[in-house]
Amino acid sequence: MTERLFEKDAYCRNFSADVLSCEEKDGFYYVVLDKTAFFPEGGGQAPDKGTINGVNVLDVQEKDGTVYHKTDKAFNTSDKVSCELDWDLRFERMQSHSGEHIVSGIVHSLFGYDNVGFHMSEKTMTVDFSGPLTAEDIAKVELESNKAIYRNAPITASYPIKEELINTDYRSKIEPRDGIRLITIEGIDCCACCAPHPAFTGEIGVIKIIDFCPHKGGTRIEMVAGINAFLDYSALHSSVKSVMNLLSAKRDSISVSVEKLQETASNLKSENGKMSRKLALASLNPVAVNDCAYAINKNMSYDDLRECANNLIENNTRKCILLSETDTGNYIYVVSSAENDVRTIVAGLNSYFNGKGGGKDNYAQGKLTASSEDELASYITDILR
Ligand SMILES: [Zn+2]
Repeated sequence: MTERLFEKDAYCRNFSADVLSCEEKDGFYYVVLDKTAFFPEGGGQAPDKGTINGVNVLDVQEKDGTVYHKTDKAFNTSDKVSCELDWDLRFERMQSHSGEHIVSGIVHSLFGYDNVGFHMSEKTMTVDFSGPLTAEDIAKVELESNKAIYRNAPITASYPIKEELINTDYRSKIEPRDGIRLITIEGIDCCACCAPHPAFTGEIGVIKIIDFCPHKGGTRIEMVAGINAFLDYSALHSSVKSVMNLLSAKRDSISVSVEKLQETASNLKSENGKMSRKLALASLNPVAVNDCAYAINKNMSYDDLRECANNLIENNTRKCILLSETDTGNYIYVVSSAENDVRTIVAGLNSYFNGKGGGKDNYAQGKLTASSEDELASYITDILR
């Protein structure tokens, strides 16, 4: 069994140890020390990083009480080695993990829900709770969590015997037995946990719930704590600052400015549509076939073609087929008729030119493919006659 320095002193970041064994497998080495401060992966937390005699520790795993440090260099048994943790990373994880305990403890005490899922990614954490939470509930949990930080409550580890555990109110999925490690955050939470935690809640600094959604009948929250919460705030702040500059708006009026921009864009779009249809009408150049008409254009939208078709029918054209080339060989079309017979025309077009589309008896639209304008013109002239 490796002596677990990470359980005794969460702040141990440098230590000396004896190499008990070093086994090679697939080009890597698995080093066992007599003691270690490297936390092996567990309880939702990733393994610590750092060095053994300057050699990078690539992974840390525990099996049957023995901790294995994966490296890409060999060590001799009985070597004395000096080890160093990547402390910034470890402390960041301690802040995050304790932040999660606080939020879970507060959700449990306010709403009685259990933490049923926990995932710690590089910067954020997701926690799943067994019941529904509203935005108001989340705001309350967040406020109480930060108040727990201001109280600077002590965080302690204990190893009660089974009988004591049975009479202790703690959060866990594990059946009571001797040797279970409890992490107590005074007045806030008590939970079975194997991970290192800071000594006081004040060291967490800040907790922020950045998102939440319903999940499997309960609620999934995404949260940040500690330095990651600070970095998240900094990133958000600089992003808001750039938007403020772009909009020449104050922080509190960003959304009003964006609404105004959306309104302006929507008016411009509508104006643009009207202009485009005027242009379409002016440049349509329809070919008359008896009292029917057809035209083959470019760069027109369905709206443009529809406007042109309406205009032609209003001005005593019996029926019309209007097309616009979208890219080589592909066309959109509209068919309009005062005789309510467009379905037959559209069926013919679709079948002849491998098209798709439909509509009502007097109007339809769709798209088709033709090898040339001449092919289209010749087919359409025939059917309009
Ligand atoms: Zn934990």
